[in-house]
Amino acid sequence: MKNQALIFILGFFVLIGAAFWLLGERAAEERTVPAGKKLSVAVTFYPLEEFARAVGGDLVSVATIVPAGAEPHEYEPTPQNILSAYRADAFLLNGAGLDPWAEKIRPELAGRGVTVVQMSEGIALLSGSEEERDPHFWLDPVFAQKETEMIRDAFIARDAAHEAVYTENAERYLAALRELDAAYRGGLAQCGLDTIVTSHEAFAYLAKRYGFETLSVSGLSPEAEPSPRRLAEIAQTVRDRGIRYIFFETLVSPKVAETLARETGTQTLVFDPLEGLTDEDRAAGKNYLGIMRDNLDNLRTALECQQ
Ligand code: ZN
Repeated sequence: MKNQALIFILGFFVLIGAAFWLLGERAAEERTVPAGKKLSVAVTFYPLEEFARAVGGDLVSVATIVPAGAEPHEYEPTPQNILSAYRADAFLLNGAGLDPWAEKIRPELAGRGVTVVQMSEGIALLSGSEEERDPHFWLDPVFAQKETEMIRDAFIARDAAHEAVYTENAERYLAALRELDAAYRGGLAQCGLDTIVTSHEAFAYLAKRYGFETLSVSGLSPEAEPSPRRLAEIAQTVRDRGIRYIFFETLVSPKVAETLARETGTQTLVFDPLEGLTDEDRAAGKNYLGIMRDNLDNLRTALECQQ
């Protein structure tokens, strides 16, 4: 009887020891990337891909889960998508309801030693018209800088040997984002109008940063159907304020914007909320920085800005 108890206790300690040894191995693995191997990064949607590539350069491989041309708000990941998140060294998600499936798997990823960075945790979030958290903060060049810094810090924490490279790469991209911010500040400083009309509510951070108003026909998610009453209200505002352009967005049907434009005798303009690139966008070499410049041009047209 005594012997059995002793064997049981010894066995218990052997198991505990093995568990700690395994955990230690895993923890050591977490902090270093073997020489010659890239840091594997999985991201939920396009802007995070660009920020991660800008910071990581040749040291990282980046997989984007929401496919080209798909719209992230309603995306349902496949089992392969989930697997690629589990296999990554680092997983970057937006949060604030844009990629809710990613928020759900997050604790388990972290438990398995994946470095997880949720961008919404570094941002002062705005609420949409329905008190939902507004996830569109990547469209604000100042918050994009914050995201770039968060990614830089996560890569350094995971792969300290390359701290200097990540820091230098990040600094180069941060400088480009600061220039973009300056272009928005200057470009939207003196405008004839102060309101834009858009289909889905993606502009709030940009509007707050650069001092204009937005009226959106549908809510934070582009699939929400607008009510006829809401459409009529907005049409009235368009006429009252002398607004001449209605924005529609890429990856979303322009139908609502076109109806509104027809009813009010206005024109449509495109705004790309950068929720994803299409294959044609990629082939044409489009990216966050370039599309944000195009968006600025169209905003300046709609708001009747000077110069
Ligand atoms: Zn959106």
